[in-house]
Amino acid sequence: MGLFGTKKIGKYEIGRTIGEGNFAKVKLGYDTTNGTYVAVKIIDKALVIQKGLESQVQREIRTMKLLNHPNIVQIHEVIGTKTKICIVMEYVAGGQLSDKLGRHKMKESDARKLFQQLIDAVDYCHNRGVYHRDLKPQNLLLDSKGNLKVSDFGLSAVPKSGDMLSTACGSPCYIAPELIMNKGYSGAAVDGFSREQKKLIFNILDPNPQRRMTLAEIIIQDSWFKIGYVPAYQQVSDSIKENVAEINAATASSNFINAFQIIAMSSDLDLSGLFEEHDDKRYKTMIGSKNTAQETIKKIEAAATGVSLSVERIKHFKVKIQPKEIRPRSSYDLLSAEVIEVTPTNCVIEISKSAGELRLYMEFCQSLSSLLTAEVS
Ligand code: ADP
Ligand code: MG
Repeated sequence: MGLFGTKKIGKYEIGRTIGEGNFAKVKLGYDTTNGTYVAVKIIDKALVIQKGLESQVQREIRTMKLLNHPNIVQIHEVIGTKTKICIVMEYVAGGQLSDKLGRHKMKESDARKLFQQLIDAVDYCHNRGVYHRDLKPQNLLLDSKGNLKVSDFGLSAVPKSGDMLSTACGSPCYIAPELIMNKGYSGAAVDGFSREQKKLIFNILDPNPQRRMTLAEIIIQDSWFKIGYVPAYQQVSDSIKENVAEINAATASSNFINAFQIIAMSSDLDLSGLFEEHDDKRYKTMIGSKNTAQETIKKIEAAATGVSLSVERIKHFKVKIQPKEIRPRSSYDLLSAEVIEVTPTNCVIEISKSAGELRLYMEFCQSLSSLLTAEVS
């Protein structure tokens, strides 16, 4: 038995339960190699499979892996056991923001700091095409220094049985203002706030999305927000900050994850083993694409025809690739390529060879890589 707990997952000793969600228990873990604590979200595989949510879980893990921000819970690794999926994360010791609200009135400067950190994290996500869809005080954790950490990326955005409202927009209490039936806000809800704070709240909660204040506008223009604001990453130079329109253009151009970054971590992104048995005789490659899923599937088709192969869609984002003519008694070549959406403008293409020669597979991968690389540089 370890010092910390009896159970072990990988190099982590598992201790007490620190949180519970829909599909998961979150436990405190202890990394025996470096003496640090981690949080281990343990998801029941059978339950996920039973609900048909495998790809959703995989997609959310991929998304989290791509985010690296001081106000977003960092994912360390994912361990699959026979019956569980364990997401090992940074341990955030201070509990949920929801537990801190309503007890005592928070100091204005503390509230502002949390709000700034939240906006900073959300802006970071949106610039990468990642949408949390379930932001609420229960999913905002506080570390031991009182810093905010956004957690629970989308795992909770999976449908709860038959509950369309929570499927479409996260949690009913925190749905987007345009979806609220009674659009008139009573001033009572914001009593006790200063005039500046009220103005900000009304602008953020404007039921008309066109009129609603954008993240960029909050960051650049709002006088209450700006006090003491230090962004985690200086994403755009100060000189550009004069003008909101220019900022929007600048962030739009940083709105991608470099395809090479995705390639570099692609072995990490291969989560198929979490739900499937591995077959060593098959070949599998992952390539990043800085395009929408729709555009990516078109590139795949172009790459295949480019090396005289025939392509056939077998699913919305999956194709079967084989030689144009299959000669009798010749070896049977069969490839498939599937597009996995990581963010709306970033995909990972999984190419696998289930039968035939390696030559064809290599040719196709080469053709596709050069098609995708040509447009990145
Ligand atoms: P679900 O997706 O099922 O809602 P969450 O990821 O929100 O699960 O985790 C459930 C609870 O576990 C959280 O509300 C929080 O209290 C706790 N928890 C989750 N992640 C961490 C973490 N990294 N550090 C500390 N506590 C955590
Ligand atoms: Mg949650």
